Amino acid sequence: MSPVDDAPLFRRQLLAWFRRHRRDLPWRRTRDPYAILVSEFMLQQTQVATVPPYYERWLARFPDFAALARAEESQVLHAWQGLGYYARARNLHAAARVVVEKFNGTMPRCTQKIATLPGVGRYTAGAVASFAFDQAEPIVDANIARLLARLTNWQLPIDLAAGRAHLWKTATQLLPQRRARLHNSALMELGALVCRPRRPDCVRCPVRSSCAATEPELLPRKKSNPRVISLHEPHAFAVRHNRILLEQSRERWRGMWMLPRLAASPKTTPLLQLDFPFTHHRVTLSVFAPAAPFVPNGQLRWFRLAEIDALPVPSPHRRALEQLLPRQKLCSTFPLT
Ligand code: SF4
Repeated sequence: MSPVDDAPLFRRQLLAWFRRHRRDLPWRRTRDPYAILVSEFMLQQTQVATVPPYYERWLARFPDFAALARAEESQVLHAWQGLGYYARARNLHAAARVVVEKFNGTMPRCTQKIATLPGVGRYTAGAVASFAFDQAEPIVDANIARLLARLTNWQLPIDLAAGRAHLWKTATQLLPQRRARLHNSALMELGALVCRPRRPDCVRCPVRSSCAATEPELLPRKKSNPRVISLHEPHAFAVRHNRILLEQSRERWRGMWMLPRLAASPKTTPLLQLDFPFTHHRVTLSVFAPAAPFVPNGQLRWFRLAEIDALPVPSPHRRALEQLLPRQKLCSTFPLT
C-alpha cells in the first residue's frame, strides 16, 4: 500500500504522531514570515541542532526586513560567521532589500512572488507560504524526499528530473487543504526522527501501514556523487606591533577578511595546517610565517588585534587565528614581519 491510496488515513496517523513527538524548535513558535525565512536560509546545509543560537542572535540583531535591509554587508557576514556557505547570507540580505523596496517591507503572501526573492527556490517559497500563512503548498526538502521515496518505494534516482517530479507530485497528493503548516512540519519531523537516513525506525513508525518500502535502507537512490577534489592553499601569518595583516577576499568568501594568500607554499614547515570541506572540495589550509614583506595593495590591510572579533572572518581562518594568536603572544622568538 502507498500513502496516496488513502491520504486521509495517512494524514491522521502522521498528525497524531506529530502532536506527541514534535521538537520544540524556535522557528515553530512564530508565524512571522521574516523569522521563518531566516530559519529556512539557516537550515539549508546546516544541522537543526546548530541553528537555534544563530537564529536567536540574528533576530536580536536584525529583527525585521527593514533592519536587515539597512545593514552593511560586513555586518551581515559577521552575524553569519560560523554557519558557512555565505551565499545564503548575501541572498538573505538581498531578499530583505527586495521586500523593503518592492513589497513595502511586507512579505507577499503569493508563493510565486515569494519565489522571486533572491535565493528562494520552490522549497523555500512553499515553506514560507505554509509555515507563515498556512497556505496549502507542498514542500520537499531532504527529509521529506527520503520519506516520500521510501513510502512509495521509488527505485529511480530522486535527483534526476523524473525523481523530482515524482516527489513533488506525491507531496501534492498528500497535502491537506487546511492545516498545511502542521502537515508539512510533521512530514519533515517524521523524516528527521523516524525515517532516518541510515537506520529507519520502521518498527515504531506511525505510518508503516501506508509504507510500500521493501528495503528502505537502500532508498532513496541518487545518481553518483561527484569526486571530492583536494586543494592546498598557503596563507601567511604576519603580525607586527600588535597588528595583523589580513586580506579581503574577492572570491570564495567575498567581502570577508582572511589570512593573506601566498602564491606558492614556502619550503618551510607551516605554523599550522587544518582541513575544511568546501562544496566538492577538501581544502588544506597551510599557514606560514612570511619570508618577505607584503607589497601593499587594495585588498591587504593591517588591523589591531583587538579589532578582529568585530570583523567578518570565515570559520577556517578564524580557527587558525584562534590557535596562532595565543602562541604568538607566548613565544617571543615567533617570527614577525
Ligand atoms: S520509517 Fe520505515 S515504515 Fe516508516 S516511512 Fe520510513 S521506511 Fe516506511
